Amino acid sequence: MPLPAYKRVVLKLSGEALAGNVGYGIDSDVINSISRQIKEIVELGVQVAIVVGGGNIWRGLAGSEKGIDRTTADYMGMLATVMNSLALQDGLEKVNVPTRVQTSIEMRQVAEPYIRRKAVRHLEKNRVIIFAAGTGNPYFSTDTTAALRAAEIEAEVILMAKNKVDGVYSADPSLDSNAEKFESLTFLDVLNKGLGVMDSTASSLCMDNHIPLIVFSIMAEGNIKRAVMGEKIGTIVKGD
Ligand code: UDP
Repeated sequence: MPLPAYKRVVLKLSGEALAGNVGYGIDSDVINSISRQIKEIVELGVQVAIVVGGGNIWRGLAGSEKGIDRTTADYMGMLATVMNSLALQDGLEKVNVPTRVQTSIEMRQVAEPYIRRKAVRHLEKNRVIIFAAGTGNPYFSTDTTAALRAAEIEAEVILMAKNKVDGVYSADPSLDSNAEKFESLTFLDVLNKGLGVMDSTASSLCMDNHIPLIVFSIMAEGNIKRAVMGEKIGTIVKGD
């Protein structure tokens, strides 16, 4: 049997991905589909850490544009990621995947606080770990959280699962029919061309720490497995 291409991965799920086609809140069918897909790679022996976004519930910048203080709005966004993380933990436990949530903002009644050594220990015991509440700091994103945690736990790759696109395009493919999909890119390309893969803080962190990124669609079941098996799907972004 072919072996997975990676031993330890960070899976970044945007909040939007959890909302499915509804676009807001949490779609339990999507949670179940993602949970099954994660179970598949855990069974291959891959250590999986997940970072979930919160955009399906709340985004700090959008909140601040409506007049809420930016820092407060960002903390609200971080709390939204905790809701998503708990929903995903529930979905994973329903398919018998042992899972721990660790939050960057302490809320001990709900989840463990983020402790790197403990997170790594969970991974070594084949427990899925979900990093919730972003970095714990306003003005950051969950993409940056994924890059930061990937560096900290020495993950080999970030798998960035999207629900609207199946890779990185030269323009938004839903608006521009001439938009071209890239097979591979460098982080410098992403920064120079201003491609909307991830924000510049997250891109720089990946570039400086040599963490490759695979952007792919989560809507086709089995894609997470394809990505960890090293199949060419979506777009790969690397340092050079
Ligand atoms: N957020 C934050 N600091 C972090 C991570 C997230 O302040 O380290 C807030 C920010 O307001 C952001 C919201 O949480 O808009 C939700 O995260 P994000 O936008 O990254 O979610 P996604 O786009 O992946 O759904």
